[in-house]
Amino acid sequence: MASVSIPSATPFLKPLQLSFNLRSLNPFQRADLAMDLGTANTLIYARQRGMLVNAPSVVAVDERTGKAVAVGHKAKEIYGKTSNVTRCLRPMKDGVIADFEMTSLMISHMLKEARPSLFIRPRIVIGVPSGITQVEKRAVIEAALASGLREAILVEEPMAAAIGMGLPINKPIGNMVVDIGGGTTEVAIIALNGTVYSRSIRVAGDEMDEAIQRHLKRLYGIEVGIFEAERLKMVMGSALPFSTPRSALVYGRDIATGMPIKTEIGDGVIREALHEPLSVIVSAVTDALESTSAEIAQDIISQGIYLAGGGALLKGLARRLTDETGILFHRANDPLSCVVRGVAQVVENLKGMREVCIN
Ligand code: ADP
Ligand code: MG
Repeated sequence: MASVSIPSATPFLKPLQLSFNLRSLNPFQRADLAMDLGTANTLIYARQRGMLVNAPSVVAVDERTGKAVAVGHKAKEIYGKTSNVTRCLRPMKDGVIADFEMTSLMISHMLKEARPSLFIRPRIVIGVPSGITQVEKRAVIEAALASGLREAILVEEPMAAAIGMGLPINKPIGNMVVDIGGGTTEVAIIALNGTVYSRSIRVAGDEMDEAIQRHLKRLYGIEVGIFEAERLKMVMGSALPFSTPRSALVYGRDIATGMPIKTEIGDGVIREALHEPLSVIVSAVTDALESTSAEIAQDIISQGIYLAGGGALLKGLARRLTDETGILFHRANDPLSCVVRGVAQVVENLKGMREVCIN
């Protein structure tokens, strides 16, 4: 049975408060949805009902039937532990959409949970990476339509993140946003409801996890699972040294003996592993700064730069970026939900915010 873990109480995004009466809308508009289709996590917001889905972008499929066995949290739990007939994968891991069919399967399952009834065909606003190709756009739209939705409207993720953070996107002010997700880091400058500059690189949280895996293999001869590497990054990964050193147990397989092993490692090892991916992210930021006009540069120097996405939670990252560029970096409140909060605002005011959509 496919399952998407949906917290029963709306955890962090209540229905947005509106100045007009929702009863004046028709039932279709009232049921409209907004989705952050991330390479690591997918979040779905519904008008009136708040946050309905906040789940890893993972799907487990039965190879014999092509049907989903599990989606979201359940699928992440069984990742790397499935039998031959069950394939568990992250369909967007290696790029924007690495596997169209599996992405569609995952979206359909998550949307099925969010649709209020089979009779109502809501619209949906979807946040997509700014580097998305026309073919990938089509694939996202088709997947939404195939799930019974009436219309799919796309917004670039950095724009959605900027809206979600409450930045003045409609003013003649350059707002620079760096969204570090699982598969991509998006660097964008937004002004007057449009994107002045955007660049998407395929180095972000996943690359950090893989760098940790490679480093532990090289240094200690230990093979660790990808989610164990991610755990180490979250508990003691950092972009700058800590004032008090930290250590943690790492669980894996000894390559020489093939036996399971646990060993203690210090935070310096993880920081060394993160050196390479972090330098690539820092370069993407400095490239963006070098390509701005003098007017926008002035705005950015006075406002600072805004960090969103789960990667923004890496300890010391904002300070490291500030040290390297001389510009103040602000980490968003709850960086994991900036994009969904942004698309939620768009779906609540679609008429007024059409300009920020990219279809
Ligand atoms: P996406 O938009 O691509 O789905 P998210 O914005 O949801 O990505 O961020 C997911 C990434 O953030 C993952 O790579 C995850 O490991 C990373 N992440 C989450 N929490 C932390 C943390 N505390 N420290 C470092 N990285 C984190
Ligand atoms: Mg994202």
